[in-house]
Amino acid sequence: MAKTPVTPRPAGGDGPPVPEMLPERPTITKVRDLAKGCRACHLYKNATQTVFGEGPRKAEVMLVGEQPGDAEDLAGHPFVGPAGKLLDRALDEAGIDRRLVYVTNVVKHFKFEPRGKRRIHAKPNTAEIAACRPWLETEIVLVKPRVLVCLGATAAQALLGKSFKVSQQRGTFVPSSLAPRVTATVHPSSILRAPDDESRHTEMRRFVADLRRVAAELK
Ligand code: SF4
Repeated sequence: MAKTPVTPRPAGGDGPPVPEMLPERPTITKVRDLAKGCRACHLYKNATQTVFGEGPRKAEVMLVGEQPGDAEDLAGHPFVGPAGKLLDRALDEAGIDRRLVYVTNVVKHFKFEPRGKRRIHAKPNTAEIAACRPWLETEIVLVKPRVLVCLGATAAQALLGKSFKVSQQRGTFVPSSLAPRVTATVHPSSILRAPDDESRHTEMRRFVADLRRVAAELK
């Protein structure tokens, strides 16, 4: 019997779009399992695996980054690489227990460009973000965090609009239907890229200050 042709996807995927994959009665476990087989955009082709969000089912805080990095792609868990370790330290300094935080990304597969033996992070484009977004929206609906924190410009602009400027609006809470309190700060990887120790320390202090504002919301 002839196979039904697969409709081409705007982001180059060859599987059904995410909304068609979502179950009628989603749970985080069900959705995480389904996301393992996602082919809604082309990013699955070169990545090792889907890296879905992790954390308590009813976490009070959800942190949303851009996409898994090299270490996360290999491990299959979000925020376990160098940026994740820096995030751990910052959360600790801010008085937020990471074990009580749900961490995830706007895009669930690692996008990179090969350079020799290394895989260099590449920014996901609008079509890839749009293709993946229903996974994140489902996570937000199921976890219902009290505070949602976008980490970096990609997450902030995907969730708060293109005009959101992390450099100017970081640490402020903005009205949003996504959660009762919504804010944004930098992505921890930007602190790792600071040109010298002094600016790295300064950026870390600012990051922790933003996270302390989140901690204050939880009291
Ligand atoms: S990046 Fe998102 S939409 Fe694209 S294949 Fe991976 S899980 Fe699916």
